[in-house]
Amino acid sequence: MSTHTNPDEKALPPAEPSGSDRVALDVYRQAIEHVSVAASITDVNANILYANPAFERLTGYSQLEVRGHNESLLSDKATPPEVYRDLWKTISSGEVWKGRLVNRRKNGTPYLADLTVVPVLDEAGRVKHFLGMHHDVTDQHQLERRVENQDALLSSIIEAAPVLIALVNIEGEVMFSNPAYKMLRRDLQGENVAAHFLDAFRESLSVSLHDMCEKGFDFSAVEVRVNLSDDETRWFACTASKVQEHDMSAAGYFTKDGRAGLLLVASDITLQRRRYEEARTNAVRALMAEQQMVQGMREVISGAIFQMQGPLNVMSAAAQMLERQGENGHDAPLKAPIHEMLNAGNAALERLKAAMPRTADEPVGPVNINELVREVLDISIDGLLRQGIFVDWRPAQILPNIPGRPNALRSMIKYLVDNAILAIKDGGSGREVVIITGTTSDGDVKLEVRDFGPGLQGDLRLKIYEPFFTAWKKTRSRPGMGLVLARQIVTDQGGSLEIENVMSGGCKAEVVLAADGLGHDPDYEQEG
Ligand code: FAD
Repeated sequence: MSTHTNPDEKALPPAEPSGSDRVALDVYRQAIEHVSVAASITDVNANILYANPAFERLTGYSQLEVRGHNESLLSDKATPPEVYRDLWKTISSGEVWKGRLVNRRKNGTPYLADLTVVPVLDEAGRVKHFLGMHHDVTDQHQLERRVENQDALLSSIIEAAPVLIALVNIEGEVMFSNPAYKMLRRDLQGENVAAHFLDAFRESLSVSLHDMCEKGFDFSAVEVRVNLSDDETRWFACTASKVQEHDMSAAGYFTKDGRAGLLLVASDITLQRRRYEEARTNAVRALMAEQQMVQGMREVISGAIFQMQGPLNVMSAAAQMLERQGENGHDAPLKAPIHEMLNAGNAALERLKAAMPRTADEPVGPVNINELVREVLDISIDGLLRQGIFVDWRPAQILPNIPGRPNALRSMIKYLVDNAILAIKDGGSGREVVIITGTTSDGDVKLEVRDFGPGLQGDLRLKIYEPFFTAWKKTRSRPGMGLVLARQIVTDQGGSLEIENVMSGGCKAEVVLAADGLGHDPDYEQEG
């Protein structure tokens, strides 16, 4: 092992070079005199014969101070011994060694040296001298470590983040993603999750991916629905921001050009969404319960008016007959009491009509029939399950909004679903209600509610729209106004409702609602 010599102590002089060696050394000396790296020439034991000015500047030792001393003068104990072993093994066999080691300046400050040791061979191929060149790479090392540390810190933040993070390039390919994103991708059997989010941005903001990346739109949260399976849906609030990666190649030194991409960050809001949906379903349920109560009262009062109207008509005809007989007719004494009864009856009728609860005038707005069906199913599902009835709900993937009164239309759908349930309870071939939405060739919205009950028997088809007509065998308590009201709502909407038997059994109620508005409704102005 070479000893660390103090340059103030006298170093053992290296073997004096012979004449031809001296000439060769002079050549090397001149060659390295003005280079900017710290260069030195040593004998075969690493004793320094010459060190250039750059060596003096870097190490703080003068030429005279180091001459005759071993290169180990610069050694710092932070360098592991195996590095030196490797260095010597390599250069002793005539090979060039490159590596990094920790050196110490004259003033004691350490620095990281990037060292190259080149063996100088004689004509016989034996090592005669070594040429050492090194430069200080401490700053570069610090920069590398800083980047590594930042990478590690950033990675641990991204890995632990409870949000989904993905970096997407301009072609829509995912360049980077965090574990939360990968987990959702696994749940979606490898589907491209980013594509869902990008589609949502495109749909709600009408911006292409190219514009998002190139023009630098930054988007605040857009709600994205992801269907994991038939019965599991998750919701995400997704934001996107443009990221620009600068060109790191030499050619990009003078420009700021580089690749543009989009950073997608999505947080799972399924729980909040479920709570919101629950609250909304409860509000719809309360609203429909109130509507049903009002409707029930209207049905009862309408029934009473209907029942009274018959006898009153008879009395009115009798009064007219007595009027024609004149004062001398043999029934003349009945005239006054009949008039009295007629007046009392008409007054009672007017009171009943005045007691009829009014339905609030509902404003018209854009309505999505899929959403209304879902709301009706949400509030009916418990009852359906209790009765062992299964709903096959086939919503159209894309269904245009139509102008309409949502509460009235929701009630209409509920009447049709309730009728399908009653039909199934009356018997038939299956315990299933099929609900399908779609569009007609004219672009109108179509709703189909199909049951597998007994179907419309005999002349029932002609009577079903008569007020207070009911033919359910198993459910006698119904007032028989559901279809009348459903048809009224659809007609008010400018649409049509048809009920017909289906060949394979049961009935199909088909509603068609105009996509382009109520037409006759002056209150409604279509958007856009
Ligand atoms: P050393 O005993 O010197 O070396 C440790 C190991 O190296 C030993 O286990 C031994 O197997 C092997 N070894 C040592 N000398 C020889 C030899 N003559 N022949 C074969 N094997 C040997 N070191 C630095 O720390 N910083 C430098 O900038 C530096 N520059 C150098 C430039 C040149 C041209 C050369 C030839 C060497 C340079 N060295 C440098 C290496 C230096 O000479 C020492 O080997 C090293 O500093 C370790 O010193 P040490 O006293 O701790 O152990």
